Amino acid sequence: MPKKTARLLSALPLLLCLFAHAQARDDYPRQPGLDAQQYRIRLDIYDANGEIKGETEIVFAVRAENVREVALDFPELNVDGVSEQGRPAKFTREGGRLRIALADTYKVGDLFNVSVSYHGAPTDGLYFKRNKFSDRTVFADNWPDRARHWFPSIDHPSDKAKVEFFIDAPARYDVVANGELVETTSRQDGTRLTHWRESVPVPVYCMVFGATEFAVVNAGAAGGTNLWHYLYPKDRDRGLTDHGRALRILDFYAGLVGPYPYEKLALVESSTRFGGMENSSNIFFDENSYDGTGELEGTVAHEIAHQWFGDSVTESDWHHLWLSEGFATYFGALFYERADGRDRFVRLMLENKERYMKDAGAVARPVYDPQVKDLFKLLNRNNYQKGAWVLHMLRRVVGDEKFFAGVRDYYRTYRDGNALTEDFRRVMELHYGKPLDWFFQEWIYEPGFPAYEAAWKWDEPSKSLKLKVRQTQPGTLFRMPLDVEFREGDDAQREVVEVNGREQTFDFKLKAKPQSVALDPDEWVLKTLKLKEE
Ligand SMILES: [Zn+2]
Repeated sequence: MPKKTARLLSALPLLLCLFAHAQARDDYPRQPGLDAQQYRIRLDIYDANGEIKGETEIVFAVRAENVREVALDFPELNVDGVSEQGRPAKFTREGGRLRIALADTYKVGDLFNVSVSYHGAPTDGLYFKRNKFSDRTVFADNWPDRARHWFPSIDHPSDKAKVEFFIDAPARYDVVANGELVETTSRQDGTRLTHWRESVPVPVYCMVFGATEFAVVNAGAAGGTNLWHYLYPKDRDRGLTDHGRALRILDFYAGLVGPYPYEKLALVESSTRFGGMENSSNIFFDENSYDGTGELEGTVAHEIAHQWFGDSVTESDWHHLWLSEGFATYFGALFYERADGRDRFVRLMLENKERYMKDAGAVARPVYDPQVKDLFKLLNRNNYQKGAWVLHMLRRVVGDEKFFAGVRDYYRTYRDGNALTEDFRRVMELHYGKPLDWFFQEWIYEPGFPAYEAAWKWDEPSKSLKLKVRQTQPGTLFRMPLDVEFREGDDAQREVVEVNGREQTFDFKLKAKPQSVALDPDEWVLKTLKLKEE
């Protein structure tokens, strides 16, 4: 770091700190001159030996002058040929990348395509497995950057694209992928071609298909789209129970956030390594979660919420993953607030709080944590549980109406695109009408949470109550509004105090000594609290 910057940093720590967030990037080697528009992935599936033969065509838009090369993530499979605009192209392979030297010169705004033919047995990202019933299955499972093991791509969430799959597989397989079903053609040689087309840009980690014998059930329409169940035939009845109130969930988010982004929604029983994986319009659930109890419904709500947050609005930098996981966790819980009432919702949020607080490693690090290099370690309690609480607290700070109007606006603005935390902040500030940098600074860019110790004391002669609040956590002092409730029988009086210092005292004039005093009785703030009468 140059000296001048270092001096400025000590003089203006907060300002530069925010500037640094805006500039920060994960270390993926981006190619700013190239913008993938569309993938066309043709695969022959040979289920007996786990091999594929494929051809992936990628259409690029040119975003800078003098683009000489396309570097694709494609570490392992055998390349049989590469072409540019239909003509054979030169390529090299190094460091996990397939580098294609471009013969033509393109202008900004031009479109061109490259095509890669390949074959081999993928070591990751695409799995040929026997499922729990010993039936053969083929499932892709890309998150975060494993698509590269079965098709060449710009394998990073900042470059979203449309995708089409043309899968040739044994005819007994039903094939499900992103977007809408365009064609199935059964051939006399016992194979079948299935063509799926996703016509809006999705992240590469969401570009997946599954192939096995499925029970395919149309559940009807909700939220402006059609919902399909893809279940192992032996799990059909259990699965319809386990997918729970999926139609209602879909309807709820479409009403709350905005139009559903894709052509259909399939809920697919699969062999994903995750409990659920939110693949755009093609959600995969772990086959081992199907037990007929309906307990999977919480995961169903979470993954459906991802269709808006993560899939449609995608973080353009891995370290802003809370924009995906924090949102899905919070909006997953919001369904239960609407459907089952406030108590269930608060219980879910308190479970999130407990899980976060039990994880000392998460508590010690901020939500935005560029030190994390292993992408799987981003699947942590900061991005999920604390991220959900950040949204919950923001809702308290700006109020319900402005919070949800802001979220709708954020979705409308970044739909089918990318965003960073600062983009979300700016939209929320527009609706709030006041700066929120302090809020994001303390909750996203600083670690931890406030540990309040509070005491109240009644003074009978002056009919006044003194409330002393201390923040006892080391490090960051948090600024938050806290509700104070004075209870007298069935009567409750509410006040709000803004706690922002190490120790503050608040005075209240009351008619009589309250029977009890509560701080944050509705659980709006991520905190620990000790409160006593002095
Ligand atoms: Zn998730």
